[in-house]
Amino acid sequence: MSTAAVGSRCRGRFAPSPTGPLHFGSLVAALGSFADARSGAGEWLVRIEDLDRTREVPGAADGMLRTLEAFGLHWDGPVLYQRLRTDAYAAALERLVAQGLCYPCGCTRREIALRARPGLEGPIYPGTCRNGLPPGRAARSVRLRTTHASIRFADAILGPQTQDVAEVVGDFVLRRADGIHAYQLAVVVDDAEQGITNVVRGADLLASTPRQILLQRHLGLPKPVYAHLPLALGADGRKLSKSLAALPVDAARPLPALLAAWRFLGQEAPPEPCKDVASFWAWALPNWQRHLVPSQGLNVTVLI
Ligand code: GLU
Repeated sequence: MSTAAVGSRCRGRFAPSPTGPLHFGSLVAALGSFADARSGAGEWLVRIEDLDRTREVPGAADGMLRTLEAFGLHWDGPVLYQRLRTDAYAAALERLVAQGLCYPCGCTRREIALRARPGLEGPIYPGTCRNGLPPGRAARSVRLRTTHASIRFADAILGPQTQDVAEVVGDFVLRRADGIHAYQLAVVVDDAEQGITNVVRGADLLASTPRQILLQRHLGLPKPVYAHLPLALGADGRKLSKSLAALPVDAARPLPALLAAWRFLGQEAPPEPCKDVASFWAWALPNWQRHLVPSQGLNVTVLI
């Protein structure tokens, strides 16, 4: 059950990784979370997920923020940068370690690939270091010890979901061999820190949600409401990839992409053409209807 208090103000967020320019797929996530929060007079925050500096494209974060502004996606409060939050992630990890929920792992990817069975997102860790590092091995990463149990939650768009994390994901990494805290840990710590009540994001993260709920339970953090949006698919039917810099949106001509993203989310078209971004949002926010958002992705080449 969600701990978002009834009657309290809803707070959404957009949490892009600065790996390239804002493309149509990320615009859909930004617009969906913005409209969902703001249509109920809620707040909307932005967090730059720049934990992995090796994947960051210099200038991408600033470019994304400028593009959001050009699209009228104005955020509340300061932008949170994950690269500045290492101490908070380390403290959360420490709490998990103190509860005996973690263990150091000395395995390389290659060793795991040789022994593991395939899971939902790559190999399921075969448990080699679960009961202690083998003699002579040094710790590389830190993993969460998972146990068989169904994590259930009601997605506000996709309906009831259930996953046994131990079964389909396994003991997952909380701190990587390169010392960087894993996305799953950072996102949970930061959603709580920012007081997020409603996480609205792309359906590519649906399978991650049970891991995040598991961590929230272990850390005693509130569970937001989750809503996963359909993915914008490329012409080949696959997810638009940021690394391919697929269809960066044109900040100089925001209206066509805004309307395309709005329609992509199943929303009714404005009755008359909007003259600018401000008039689009003045019409759009009172007309946002979450129940119209489709559960399946669409090939975006038909829309833009
Ligand atoms: N940083 C992630 C991404 O850009 C999104 C994380 C989230 O919304 O939870 O795909």
